[in-house]
Amino acid sequence: TAATAAPTIKQVKLERESELRIEVANDTPLRLRLLNGTAEIFGTELPPEMWLTFPPRLKFAVFTWYGATIEMDGPTETDYTADETPMVSYVNVHAVLEGRRNRAKAPSSSGSEASQGPRVIVVGPTDSGKSTLSRMLLSWAAKQGWKPTYVDLDIGQGSITIPGCIAATPIELPIDPVEGISLEMPLVYFYGHTTPSQNVDLYKALVKELAQILERQFTGNAESRAAGMVINTMGWIEGVGYELILHAIDTFSANVVLVLGQEKLFSMLRDVLRNKPNVDVVKLQKSGGVVSRSSKVRQKARSYRIREYFYGIANDLSPHSNIANFSDLFVYRIGGGPQAPRSALPIGADPVANPLRVTAVNIDRDLLHVVLAVSYAQEPDQIVSSNIAGLIYITDIDLQRRKITYLTPTAGDLPSKYLIMGTLTWLET
Ligand code: ATP
Repeated sequence: TAATAAPTIKQVKLERESELRIEVANDTPLRLRLLNGTAEIFGTELPPEMWLTFPPRLKFAVFTWYGATIEMDGPTETDYTADETPMVSYVNVHAVLEGRRNRAKAPSSSGSEASQGPRVIVVGPTDSGKSTLSRMLLSWAAKQGWKPTYVDLDIGQGSITIPGCIAATPIELPIDPVEGISLEMPLVYFYGHTTPSQNVDLYKALVKELAQILERQFTGNAESRAAGMVINTMGWIEGVGYELILHAIDTFSANVVLVLGQEKLFSMLRDVLRNKPNVDVVKLQKSGGVVSRSSKVRQKARSYRIREYFYGIANDLSPHSNIANFSDLFVYRIGGGPQAPRSALPIGADPVANPLRVTAVNIDRDLLHVVLAVSYAQEPDQIVSSNIAGLIYITDIDLQRRKITYLTPTAGDLPSKYLIMGTLTWLET
């Protein structure tokens, strides 16, 4: 008789206010469903009895407020239940935000201050659960019919597009636990590096551009203005990182600062924001379920993220390979450029090149395996202030025939011939 595979289906009964924490295996997806009761994944309710397939390596928790039974099919890296979570404190924050949205929407709330819903910024060290908390707050708001704006300033492990970008997008439905944030029309700016120290001035300039565009959109849209925004930040909280947090709070006029998992950062921010009575600084506990990631794991995650951009989360996209002439495309770099030695400069002059200067890049073999952004700029001098249409990946440079081969996630002509290059590369594996 043929050997029958060992049954891999497992049932887990969850008591109220507890969660099942899962790390999906490295090379096998996991099927999971809600058998009975109610449960949610990072703020999004699970449909009853429907099997969902989670991709390899995904880390998540199935939380229940009132109790549930979960069924899992397949091996996992780890899975365990936990009954100590900070979820009650998180949902309490949501309730306060909800009150503010309702007040902002009330007919008596005319005037720009009163009709502005909460502008929440989530800060904390790496692996404190910032992205996860942002996601829950957005999904809970969307479930109640709001369309809050998600702003992701994390260029390392961003969740809207790919590393090296900052972006914003309205969240109209609770975020899909498998697919993540749906990308209808995100507003994206290309920074091009995965650490802000590469060009702090450029990072700040792009944050400012993004904030200004959103401000303009809010002016004409009472609904999204009342819903407010949730801003996710980087885990870099020391030195320049701290300065960038203050810069973001100020630039977006954040009025709720949620500090995850660090007493020191909380007390620093509370002190420095004390003279701003309309800004609330709130300390929140980090969840024990947040998985710490080494720099190697982060590096890998960035690479997977770029792969997902071109191939889809479930390998369900087929990127297009295109060929262009060298003369059809114009590649630019922001900042850097030739740096004069101090000895060649007048006394007292700053040897650092203008961080926002746009310089043309020659097309050569150095572009191989580089990820470039397609700018919406009409002229090169608009590149810093323009958002991007998307990204391309250079797969071949033919110097003889002067042809460049590149991958795009969808078919069609590039919306512009202006490309931006940073230090972002990717090796297709
Ligand atoms: P970074 O600073 O790198 O942006 P972060 O502070 O935003 O990190 P998250 O991305 O929210 O942290 O969480 C880190 C990882 O832990 C993610 O893979 C997330 O899905 C996972 N995670 C968060 N909370 C839980 C939980 N309760 N159970 C299981 N996994 C979790």
